[in-house]
Amino acid sequence: MAQYHIWTVGCQMNKADSDRLGSALEDLGYEFTNDAEQADMVILNSCVVRQGAEDKVAARLNSLQGWKRNNPNNTLTLMGCMVGPKTDELEKQFAHVDFFLRPQEFMPLVEFASERQGVPCSTDLDLLPPTQPQVSAYVPVIHGCDDFCTYCIVPYRRGRERSRSIQDLVRESEMLSRRGVKEITLLGQIVDRYGHDLEEDTDLADLLNAINSVENIHRVRFLTSHPRDMSQRIIDAVAHLEKACEWINLPFQSGDNAILNAMRRPYRIEDYLSLVERIRDAIPDVALSTDVIVGFCGETEEQFENTIAVLEKIRFDTVFVAAYSTRTGTIADRKFQDDIPVKEKLRRKKIIEELQERIATEKNAPLLGERVEILVEKKQKEKWMGRTRTNKLVFFDDSRDWTGKLVEVDVTHTGPWSLQGNLPDTTSISDTIDGIIEYSHFKDDTHQSKNEIPLKTIT
Ligand code: SF4
Repeated sequence: MAQYHIWTVGCQMNKADSDRLGSALEDLGYEFTNDAEQADMVILNSCVVRQGAEDKVAARLNSLQGWKRNNPNNTLTLMGCMVGPKTDELEKQFAHVDFFLRPQEFMPLVEFASERQGVPCSTDLDLLPPTQPQVSAYVPVIHGCDDFCTYCIVPYRRGRERSRSIQDLVRESEMLSRRGVKEITLLGQIVDRYGHDLEEDTDLADLLNAINSVENIHRVRFLTSHPRDMSQRIIDAVAHLEKACEWINLPFQSGDNAILNAMRRPYRIEDYLSLVERIRDAIPDVALSTDVIVGFCGETEEQFENTIAVLEKIRFDTVFVAAYSTRTGTIADRKFQDDIPVKEKLRRKKIIEELQERIATEKNAPLLGERVEILVEKKQKEKWMGRTRTNKLVFFDDSRDWTGKLVEVDVTHTGPWSLQGNLPDTTSISDTIDGIIEYSHFKDDTHQSKNEIPLKTIT
């Protein structure tokens, strides 16, 4: 049987793209292998958001030269954000690559594979959800980005915004549910702009509402939000929909208005702070995560301190911090000087990492001794791993198979990045409806008040 191998680096959107391409290849009779050396077809799905990611892809491509030389009929594809509108440079640098495909430009490879296998292919990969989905699946709902933040290469590579229809997305979610998926994460570069380009008057709140009705999906999340587009309707949907998780990723990037302006982020930090207040008013137990860039062109110490002040004030549950690196072709590349020395950028990054470690430790500490509900995803390092609705990682030991189950865990240890716990003595799989023992037993008051439908009907 023909075998394929996909290696993915970068964001969740890339992971979702790889899953779709994998499904298409499996439809054509290919089988996934973890070992690139054994594959007939290798696809590297690339990322250029940071230099480090690009370097990794280049190293990986170079490491496959011998494989291609020894098997000239095998196919090597470079896909994703590293591939721009012009591929001449890449073709020169990586002459052993057969296909250069921009993000989601799957068809040339799928048609080639179809011809090679002698099997007709599907032309709508949006309708091909992953064939081997896990407990939690990504569903892209809006492709591309129209924003052109000055530091970002994504709009040049992923094109204009295009929302998928609610009907398609519900159909896909139902298909995933039938294949055992219990949690769906709706993806978009700016997911809260979902629907603005569709003919029908619809938005992310409507979509959350529609997915909330899909049977056997227990949870729905969305990623990544933009502060400008986070409407009260969306906040209220998270507050009131049973399955919408109390977790919002809301990048603010810098705590300084002049830097935000230079980044072309269309809000002031005061707007961001009042948005967070509104979110916390509506969803008191919400967990917030954010993205921050340090060392952007011209960022002074004082401007960096403004970012620190925002982090201290909001006390996020999770912070993803990146040291700025110029991406060729972006507005910042053309207009500004990347003038903060690397050493200084790394110093600022470390300060934020240490600050966040302290904040996350403090925020998680009160969970010690609490009972939390988690959706178990898989075994990792000999322990079961799941997440709370607020996206906190929880590990526990047990010999039984808890994959895909909603269970309660008594927290016995808290740290900045994860929690450890035990199953209560009485827990058994046979007590569960997909892991749900008695909703009223573990739903906290906040969740309880959100339920307008009887709890037992959720599964
Ligand atoms: S919103 Fe800004 S940072 Fe996000 S993908 Fe679009 S251009 Fe990039």
